[in-house]
Amino acid sequence: MRFADTPELATWRTTVRSFLDEHWHSTGSDDESEAATSMENEEQFQARMKRSQAWLDKLGENGWIAPAWPKEYGGADMSVLEQFVLSQELTQAGAPTSRQMLNLVGPTIMLHGTDEQKAEHLPPMLRGEVAWCQGFSEPGSGSDLASLQTRAVRDGDDYVVNGQKIWTSGAHRADWMFMLARTDPDAPKHRGISYLLINMKDPGVSVRPLINMHDGHVFNEVFFEDVRVPVRNRIGEENRGWYVGTTTLDFERSNIARVVNIKKSLAKVLDYTQAREVNGEAVGRPQRMELADRAVETAVCELLSFQVVSIQASGGVPNMEASMNKMYGSELQQRVARTAMNITGMRGQLRQPEGLESEHGIQAAMNYLSTVPATIAAGTSEIQRNIIATRGLGLPRG
Ligand SMILES: Cc1cc2nc3c(=O)[nH]c(=O)nc-3n(C[C@H](O)[C@H](O)[C@H](O)COP(=O)(O)OP(=O)(O)OC[C@H]3O[C@@H](n4cnc5c(N)ncnc54)[C@H](O)[C@@H]3O)c2cc1C
Repeated sequence: MRFADTPELATWRTTVRSFLDEHWHSTGSDDESEAATSMENEEQFQARMKRSQAWLDKLGENGWIAPAWPKEYGGADMSVLEQFVLSQELTQAGAPTSRQMLNLVGPTIMLHGTDEQKAEHLPPMLRGEVAWCQGFSEPGSGSDLASLQTRAVRDGDDYVVNGQKIWTSGAHRADWMFMLARTDPDAPKHRGISYLLINMKDPGVSVRPLINMHDGHVFNEVFFEDVRVPVRNRIGEENRGWYVGTTTLDFERSNIARVVNIKKSLAKVLDYTQAREVNGEAVGRPQRMELADRAVETAVCELLSFQVVSIQASGGVPNMEASMNKMYGSELQQRVARTAMNITGMRGQLRQPEGLESEHGIQAAMNYLSTVPATIAAGTSEIQRNIIATRGLGLPRG
């Protein structure tokens, strides 16, 4: 077996690279994944968003924001494998691929939404006109998500929503939220939940910031006080929202761009290590052994992402495989960040690196801090292990 592009995919990869040269690299734009973890202020953030939007407009002209979607909804009717190659190349170049959360809510609406919902929500997403946030977690319901308490009570053609969400990434900048609310408190917990789309500008929605451990404002608390949500904003059947929500989570955990970023981080650490040795600052044997381990693990991680893509390419939605990919990838992100800290030593602890670290784009401290939540967001590692054990291996629950 040989993991290589077919001739058609190789030609496609070359097309994507030329497009990137012409429209991304030539503008001198920064690596998005790094900018997002750096200490940018509001002004820098807005300037980055403006550059991103210009780039997304270019991508959108070709239907490349969601390339595997049908053309009628703004996609390009491409195969999953073509989409994978595009995603690999954009991530490698550090270019944005879409606006926040599109990769989660878009495919969910595509699978479970009505024609009207698709027509209303998918085209503006692809024009980059709307940002979304995910309202799943609540103060008492994270891992045990099905215990969520936010209530949606039917009143004519609306639901009236009351309750609270927490850790809602990007809620302060989102136009819409996809969320889960309890519509039948008497049903077993998985069967009384509905999946709703809420306009964040609606009366009764309020957002309060939560500041993370590297002083960034990424996530929030969101409160709902008698928010009226039209019934037509429900995705899927009433009280069947749990099953729609798990589709969203499967897409979230299938994140195949993660391994490209891991490879980029590891490549930087390797370059830096070699440069130190050239400068006469030898790197010790334990660290060389550690780097070899990271290289092996990165290769394994890449195979796990290939597994996810091959299931998607044959028309399936990866489940246990998505959890394997998420768990292994997020733990590896942390190990690579720790290796970078070990190799850079005291100098790596500077939040704004200087000298050789800066030359090689090593942001060991910021990277380390930003990878801490990787094993919590989108479901903790313990939860992924539970899914692999029960749904994957057929072991009993509890
Ligand atoms: C950076 C970041 C961004 C996030 N963004 C969003 C977002 O946009 N939208 C959103 O809805 N949520 C978001 N979350 C929330 C995230 O989904 C939850 O934090 C996560 O699901 C864990 O829930 P919890 O924090 O309530 O922890 P808990 O569920 O209270 O878990 C606490 C600990 O107990 C362990 N544990 C719990 N149950 C079990 C079990 N059955 N078996 C073994 N161990 C168990 C957990 O693994 C964890 O170690 C985000 C979180 C982070 C860190």
